[in-house]
Amino acid sequence: MLTVKAYAATSATEPLAPTTIERRDLGPHDVLIDIRYSGICHSDIHTARSEWGPTTYPIVVGHEIAGVVREVGPEVSKFSVGDRVGVGCMVDSCRECDNCRKGLEQYCLNGNIGTYGAVDRDGRPTQGGYAQAIVVTEDFVLRIPDGIELDAAAPLLCAGITTYSPLRHWNAGPGTRVAVIGMGGLGHMAVKLAHAMGAEVTVLSQSLKKREDGLRLGADHYHATSDEETFTKLAGSFDLIINTVSAKIDLDAYLRLLAVDGTLVNVGAPEDPLSVHAFSLIPARRSFAGSMIGGIAETQEMLDFCAERGIGAEIEVIPAEKINDAYERVLASDVRYRFVIDASTF
Ligand code: NAP
Ligand code: ZN
Ligand code: ZN
Repeated sequence: MLTVKAYAATSATEPLAPTTIERRDLGPHDVLIDIRYSGICHSDIHTARSEWGPTTYPIVVGHEIAGVVREVGPEVSKFSVGDRVGVGCMVDSCRECDNCRKGLEQYCLNGNIGTYGAVDRDGRPTQGGYAQAIVVTEDFVLRIPDGIELDAAAPLLCAGITTYSPLRHWNAGPGTRVAVIGMGGLGHMAVKLAHAMGAEVTVLSQSLKKREDGLRLGADHYHATSDEETFTKLAGSFDLIINTVSAKIDLDAYLRLLAVDGTLVNVGAPEDPLSVHAFSLIPARRSFAGSMIGGIAETQEMLDFCAERGIGAEIEVIPAEKINDAYERVLASDVRYRFVIDASTF
């Protein structure tokens, strides 16, 4: 066992605090990764605060992990010591069900093993990336291409793939009109990726405060949803809307912005249920869908896509002692656009 420094949540209401956790001895196919950077995803906050149901404490969250291989098990074939690697939201799955066989490990019929808050194959709880090191089976480790810095790469492992996957699945590209609701961690990646895929991109944000940034990141248009006129002006004008908002919103108002056959994909995962009026869908054959991260092969494809185009996340690197302040800023929509923890400060 390897003991490593980490930051843990001990209850839904206490601030995260320093601790140590144990990482398992290397199995034949395991990779020991020295974590260099760990992104802060809003899902970490939902989990640390038991917003998605009761969390088992103490928990080390974090599933946007970028680092360097320190050691490999004897049968590891894909990675060597010194490789630049990443780990996202999953550390294993059954690998045998129909979905796993199709490369959709995130939809594993037996439940994928989450990077934190799950039970690993050895029966121990998984602990995530707010730590100095992690041990992961090689099939769930990603290669970070040389073209991307490790700090800007970390958020791609969740925010990047969670937006890349639906954009690809619903064919964002030249001639498609894509709107992104919320310009936070996921939202700003959706803007960059949809723009890189050739789509016409519109940001729907609560205010115009981040407009300059949105346009710089690749948006063609930027509208404030606090302005009622936005909803009349843009009615029926999008093929695809990606909702990244972490809170409950008036979905009906946004569904009316879809053209005939348009789809609104929910990736935001608020604590409270969302409601949809049937008449927001029926009159234009609209679809309301969900999407969860992406498979391992697709995550690698996304990292390679980003490296080829020089795409990384817009980040603010912080020391571990600022994690609780960063949480408050994320909750206040004051993130530009992803906090990334420098793992040398744990
Ligand atoms: P984030 O950085 O906090 O971004 C969310 C953005 O939504 C905010 O920056 C803000 O953008 C907007 N927003 C926040 N509260 C709002 C409100 N009450 N009304 C309207 N807009 C609001 O969060 P994130 O890390 O991107 O994560 C977003 C959500 O996706 C979370 O619920 C997270 O758990 C979920 N998630 C899902 C998956 C998946 O696989 N489906 C993966 C990762 C994360 P503006 O200031 O521009 O309005
Ligand atoms: Zn996440
Ligand atoms: Zn499976």
